[in-house]
Amino acid sequence: MDPPILCQPRPASSRPARSRSARVKHGLAHACFACACAEQAPLVRRARAATFRDCSRLGARLLLGSLASAAAARIVPDPDQAGSLGPLLELLTGSLLLLAKVLGTALAALGSLLAFNTLAIPRAKTDTTHQAAAHPEHDHYSQVLADAIRLETVSQDAGSDQETDPRPLRALRELLRKSFPRAHERLEVTQVNTYSLLYKWEGSDKSLKPIMLCAHLDVVPAPGEWEQPPFSGNIVDGVVWGRGAIDNKHNVVGELAAVEELLKGGFEPRRTVYVAFGHDEEISGFQGAKYLAEHLKTKEKIGKDGMAAIFDEGPMMVEGALPGIKGPIALVANAEKGAVTVEVSIDAPGGHSSMPPIKEEGSIAIISKAVLKLEQNQFPAHFAPGPAGMYAQMAMASPYFRGPMRVVVANLWLFAPLLKKVSECGGPRRFGSGRVAKRR
Ligand SMILES: [Zn+2]
Repeated sequence: MDPPILCQPRPASSRPARSRSARVKHGLAHACFACACAEQAPLVRRARAATFRDCSRLGARLLLGSLASAAAARIVPDPDQAGSLGPLLELLTGSLLLLAKVLGTALAALGSLLAFNTLAIPRAKTDTTHQAAAHPEHDHYSQVLADAIRLETVSQDAGSDQETDPRPLRALRELLRKSFPRAHERLEVTQVNTYSLLYKWEGSDKSLKPIMLCAHLDVVPAPGEWEQPPFSGNIVDGVVWGRGAIDNKHNVVGELAAVEELLKGGFEPRRTVYVAFGHDEEISGFQGAKYLAEHLKTKEKIGKDGMAAIFDEGPMMVEGALPGIKGPIALVANAEKGAVTVEVSIDAPGGHSSMPPIKEEGSIAIISKAVLKLEQNQFPAHFAPGPAGMYAQMAMASPYFRGPMRVVVANLWLFAPLLKKVSECGGPRRFGSGRVAKRR
């Protein structure tokens, strides 16, 4: 096998003038020596006639090859260059310069693309006036909602020392019957497990799958200080206040108001519409949603995937829910987290509170650490995919974003994984606890 051409020692007189190109070539020879890699000889041979740029590129390849195999390489010193690191340093400098150039070009291209995408999205003005559309029945339905809030349909969970009072649920049912006379006349109304309600609006086309609107009649207790008493149903400056105003009596009233208004206008659906109100959603729905589902399955013969769509409660209009958008926004919730209850217990030696454990941790400390670990190890974030998914919604809302977030939403192809990470590292607080547009 021919020895690598540039690896042969050459007399000092035959060395090329110290032009930059020549120095690089010399460096190549040295690098080839260093790894003693015969396969690189053709590359080196080509490098003789190459321009400085080509040399640098080849040099980078050779250098990388040299570094990779350095541990196993047999070093053959160049008698002329023994002990001199100059050429290698020059080669290294050249390679780094080339790398910087490549990185600079790539960054410039990336920046241009990000800027182009950002400038391509239109700018929309955020409506911060919160004005509801004028409707002749607006005041009437606001009053119905206020009346519904005054009925304390509080669900008490198993750990509470109070029993759930069924009387407000009965009163609420009566209020709905009086307030929505057309809906209660035209739709078939079934009391499911006594207090939950199922309305059926029969469609004209039986071949179409039905849809269902859901809400719940109950609320959670309302301890603490309130700007307006929680069960006052006060209407202040056009805003209805109280427990249940946004979770979830507005849905109850809103859905039935929609049915009532459609009936008033003579509308008849082609597709059957169900409206279902559970009465214990706040304590898991074992007495409400569970029975409603069973009823739909057995009495209405609606099995798995039997509905074309189900619309349930979701997030309310909030301000500050997404950084970069001023004013209230309504995110459509298109997926829901499940829930899990974990019981953590420990067996530890008994003791007395007058002599708490000093060196060894007591059971309370051990359990506390376990609970803390549970909280610190969240499930990974998962955004619903598809055209109605979180990213799709952000893209749709992109004209409303301002500042750096505008760049982010205009380039979700790049930043989506970052958003996901942010939402996992404290994002829920940022993304999920915005101030409600108007506290009610
Ligand atoms: Zn709710």
